[in-house]
Amino acid sequence: MITIKNGLLLIDNELVKRDIQIKDGKIFDIKESLDEFGEVIDVKGAWIINGAVDVHVHLREPGFTHKETIESGTKASAKGGVTTCLAMPNLNPCPDSLDNLKVELDIIEKDALVNVLPFGSVTKGEKGDELASLEEIKDKVVAFTDDGVGVNNIDLLVKAMEFAKANDMVIASHAEDLVNGKLPEGEYKAVRREIELAKKIGCKYHFCHMSTKESFEAIRNAHRDGYTNITCEVAPHHLILNEEMIKDGNWKMNPPLRSEENRLETIKALLDGTACMVASDHAPHSEIEKSQEYSKCPNGIIGIETMLPIVYTYFIDKGLATHQDFIDWFITNPSKVFNLKEKKIEINEEADLVALDINTTRKYTKEEILSKSTNAPYIGMEFKGFPILTILKDKIVWRMNYEK
Ligand SMILES: [Zn+2]
Repeated sequence: MITIKNGLLLIDNELVKRDIQIKDGKIFDIKESLDEFGEVIDVKGAWIINGAVDVHVHLREPGFTHKETIESGTKASAKGGVTTCLAMPNLNPCPDSLDNLKVELDIIEKDALVNVLPFGSVTKGEKGDELASLEEIKDKVVAFTDDGVGVNNIDLLVKAMEFAKANDMVIASHAEDLVNGKLPEGEYKAVRREIELAKKIGCKYHFCHMSTKESFEAIRNAHRDGYTNITCEVAPHHLILNEEMIKDGNWKMNPPLRSEENRLETIKALLDGTACMVASDHAPHSEIEKSQEYSKCPNGIIGIETMLPIVYTYFIDKGLATHQDFIDWFITNPSKVFNLKEKKIEINEEADLVALDINTTRKYTKEEILSKSTNAPYIGMEFKGFPILTILKDKIVWRMNYEK
């Protein structure tokens, strides 16, 4: 039994004081005041939410364990208040067949501290030449994507979309055309092209890490025309950073940081619902890889430990969005779009809880990072709303050390 004392729950759009008891991995009781049983944790006015769903995480294992492992990546997730990670398939072996996927599933089974749901790749080895064994892996993957490269072979993409439609599954797109690459038009031209296909085929089609005005306009127009099967996510870095701020390799990712105008459009898209969720695009790379000359170092930054505090600080604390928006962006909408079970804080529901310290502003430090890599532009920045406690079923998977 665990008793959480002095938490705040969002009830009818108001934060109200509640104690929560957990027994056998489930929520046993919720009241204004509960007797102390078992392990007692006083969260001192922290906001209790369900564990976040991060639909865009690179856990790097199997294949790239010098950057991250499923163990280190899920420790970082728990610390960041994320209890459901959708894991990207740019791995070795790439989860493009049942045999290859099994390698990843076995490590998840053995080492994952939070729920990890693997993506299957759309094409074999994400090479864009041949479809992956979609039928064979469909029941064991959460969705399909060739993240990092995008599918530029339209015939294959159409086949994958038809498969997704027939099986009520999602295709997540890293939209980038071959002609324009990482330039803004590389993104929005691919987005426009893929929207037309998604309209025609009608499958669930989700655009990853959108970052340009024109992309949002295209998605907004599709929504206006009634195409609710088309969705998109934005990443924290595109919401709070722009290209003028780039200092070194730890500020390099794909899509890259854009102009201030595009940053403001990203915020607008999130606030008006064009983008219905925030995902980290957590992409660890080692210090050696990232300390190379800027043009040579690989794309990607870590972000799973800072995603909730960043959005809390810049949107909720500043009053740009509501506490309910925060829950929708991190829990309700990603669960809905990716066909996951709805999370709830109610008696008899699975204990899947995070306590956010919304009363303290503090610096994010390199020393506290639990990811195996430290390639974050946020080191030294101050945020509010860091998770201090994460509970999944009957386990405390993250607890802030108050002595520090
Ligand atoms: Zn990507």
